[in-house]
Amino acid sequence: MKALRSLDDWHFEVLRVLEEKMRHYETVPTDVVARETEASKDLTLKRLSTLHRYGLVWAPRGRERGFVLNYNGLDAIALRSVVNRGILVSIGGRIGAGKESEVYEAVTAEEERVAVKFYRMGSRSFKKYKRHRDIALHSHLYMEASRLAAKRELEALQILYPRGIKVPRPIYRNRHLLVTELIRGIELAKVKAVDDPALLLEKVLRNLVEAFRAGVVNCDLSAYNVIYLPESGDVFLIDWPQWVSPDHATAKFYLRRDIDNVLEFFERRLHHRPNKDIMREILGENVY
Ligand code: ADP
Ligand code: MN
Repeated sequence: MKALRSLDDWHFEVLRVLEEKMRHYETVPTDVVARETEASKDLTLKRLSTLHRYGLVWAPRGRERGFVLNYNGLDAIALRSVVNRGILVSIGGRIGAGKESEVYEAVTAEEERVAVKFYRMGSRSFKKYKRHRDIALHSHLYMEASRLAAKRELEALQILYPRGIKVPRPIYRNRHLLVTELIRGIELAKVKAVDDPALLLEKVLRNLVEAFRAGVVNCDLSAYNVIYLPESGDVFLIDWPQWVSPDHATAKFYLRRDIDNVLEFFERRLHHRPNKDIMREILGENVY
């Protein structure tokens, strides 16, 4: 974040050239960056060194061979775009982290507090493996996957939200970054007890069935992806990048698995198991 303020337009131009050229080069040679930004090689190298010092780019084969963007660099470009477009005015602390993402709180131009999800596909393997270099060399594929995940998740929210299904209101996407309504609650997985487990389960299941009817199966639903609001007893279903449509060959299988994950949590943690008639009443014959 600090880096964002000390960089000028040219640094961002260099980052954008790297982003674009990574599709065609393993590492983008300094010459190519110089040509694309119409700057001298010396000046370009200076800019690249600054970016390198801030940890926004990598030189996996040594500086002579060239540079690639990393997730910090991609974050910088995406954040700059959302700020320049007047969507966000400031970004705050981290409020969540999952398998493939980090989520931060932010403030919009309308002074609304929102959630910003930064996809980080493959970043675990960036840390886990010793072969940093190899990972850096195909990091653009992971970044492309992150971009796609953000796009897919936005699509799901755009289908579900207008139909009244309890998901965060979608606001904006840029690259691998997705801005949505901030849900001020707790992950259901962290909840120890609730007043009325039967009612809570019914809410979750009804949302799942409505999502299915709207054309969306989550495919990764668990108590971690349900946010619970203790005050109102409301629930929100989050984390939709891997959704499929009901006419997908295994959609019913995924829906069942989502439902079973939820049922398993209610039984184990909240000691609640619905009877068959209630399940059939909520889910309908052809769903479960
Ligand atoms: P992942 O695929 O990494 O699990 P999630 O969408 O589940 O991504 O987000 C990770 C965590 O961030 C969630 O478990 C939740 O705690 C928090 N989070 C995500 N979206 C929101 C939101 N709109 N409002 C509040 N918290 C959120
Ligand atoms: Mn999640």
